[in-house]
Amino acid sequence: MTDKTASDHETQMTEFDRAAGLLGLDPEMQTILRTPFREVQVSLPLRRDDGSLSVFIGYRVQHNGSRGPTKGGIRYHPEVDLLEVRALAALMTWKTALMNIPYGGAKGGVNVKAWELSEDELERLTRTFTTRIALLLGVNRDIPAPDMYTNSQTMAWMMDEYGRKFGYTPGIVTGKPVGLGGSLGREAATGRGTVIITGLVSEEFGLDLKGSNVVIQGFGNVGSWAARLFCEAGARVTAVSDVHGGIHDPSGLDIDAVVKFVKEKKSLEGFPGAKPLSNDEILTMECDFLVPAAIGGVINEKNADAIRAKFVIEAANAPTTPEASHRLEERGIRVVPDILVNAGGVTVSYFEWVQNLQQFYWSEQRVEDELSRIMKNAYTEVAHLRAERGVTFRDASFMLAIDRVARAERLRGS
Ligand code: NAD
Repeated sequence: MTDKTASDHETQMTEFDRAAGLLGLDPEMQTILRTPFREVQVSLPLRRDDGSLSVFIGYRVQHNGSRGPTKGGIRYHPEVDLLEVRALAALMTWKTALMNIPYGGAKGGVNVKAWELSEDELERLTRTFTTRIALLLGVNRDIPAPDMYTNSQTMAWMMDEYGRKFGYTPGIVTGKPVGLGGSLGREAATGRGTVIITGLVSEEFGLDLKGSNVVIQGFGNVGSWAARLFCEAGARVTAVSDVHGGIHDPSGLDIDAVVKFVKEKKSLEGFPGAKPLSNDEILTMECDFLVPAAIGGVINEKNADAIRAKFVIEAANAPTTPEASHRLEERGIRVVPDILVNAGGVTVSYFEWVQNLQQFYWSEQRVEDELSRIMKNAYTEVAHLRAERGVTFRDASFMLAIDRVARAERLRGS
C-alpha cells in the first residue's frame, strides 16, 4: 500500500462519512454503502515483443449496483492498486447517482507503465484483461469505459474480445470509436461538462466566464478538451501542463496551436512564445478558475495555503485532499467537486449505451443538448441543497448522491 492510494481511499471515506453524518443516515445503511459489492484481482501474463514474459496485476471493483448496472473506467497506471480502484469505484456510484442516470459505480485498472508498452503489447494486455474479467461484465451488469492511459482504441479491443465469446455486444463498453458504435460527442464530453459547470458557477457568483482567467493542470483528454471549450466560451486559458511541466502566457494561450503542437511533439515542452513552469507552480497561479485535470491528491496540505484561485473546478478524480478542501473553503476558495464537474463523461457514456441498446444513433447536437440538461439539473439540485443546509458544493453533492443510493437500497429491501 502506498501513501498515495491509502489517501485516495481515506479521502473517499472522509467525504462519505461527513455527508452521511449530515444526512443522518442510519449506521446499518452506512455500512452497506461503505462496503464494495464485488472486488476481483487477476494476473495478466504478457509475452513482450522481445520474447520475455511480464506479469501485471489487474483489478475490477463493483461498488454498488442498486440503481443500475455498475459503470466505470479502466486505468493503466503504475499507481493502480486495490485501494485506488476501490476508492474510484465508490466515486462512480456517487457520480452516477448525482447525475440521476440509471447506473451504479465500478472501476478497473492495471498496474502498468502503459507508456512503456508497444501498441501490440497494449492490445495483448487488454485482450487478456478482458478475458479474465469477462464473467463480471455485461450490458446489464457492468460496463467499462476509458480512463487515464486508456482510450477509444482500448475500448475497441475490449469490445472485440468480449464479442468473440458472447457475440456482437457494442453496449459492453463505452468510449468506443464512433465507427464501432461510439457516440458523437463522447470524446469531448468530460471537458464539455467541466465548462458547463464552470459557466453555471460564473452565473451564480456574478463572474463572467468570457474573459475569465483559467489555469488547467493536465492536457490529456479532459484537460485539452476543457481548454478548447473554455476558449470557445471566450475565457482566457493562461496556463496548461502535462506530466513533464507546463506553459504560461498571461494574455491567453492559443489553445488550437497548443493542441497541434502536442499532437506532433507529444509534450508541451518548447511551445513557442510561452514561459515554462512546473506542475507545482501551475497550481498556485493567480486565476479565476483552477482546473486540476490530471491525477489525484495534487492539492493537499502542502500547497492549500498557496492556492490563489477564486474557484477550484475538480475535473480530475479526487485532486483535492479533504484537509486541503477544508482549508480552501476556510480561505473563501470554493471547491466544486469531481462528482459534479467531471460527470459529463459518464453521462455521454450513458447516451452511448442507450444508443447501442436501441441501435439508433443521435446527432451531436442532441448529445450536447441532453448533456447540458442533465448537468444543469444536477447543478440546480446542488445549489438548492447548499442554500437550504448551508453546506459546501462537495457536501451537497455527496448528500444528494448518497440519499439517492440509500433510497434505492431500501426499496430493494436492504
Ligand atoms: P489522459 O491520460 O488522457 O491525460 C492525463 C493528463 O495528465 C496528461 O496530460 C498527462 O501528461 C497528465 N499527467 C499525468 N501525470 C501527471 C502528473 N503527475 N502531474 C501533472 N500532470 C500529469 O487522462 P484523462 O482521461 O484526461 O483523465 C484525467 C483525469 O480526469 C483523471 O483523474 C481521470 O480519472 C479523470 N476523468 C476522466 C474522464 C474521461 O472521460 N476521460 C471522465 C471523468 C474523470
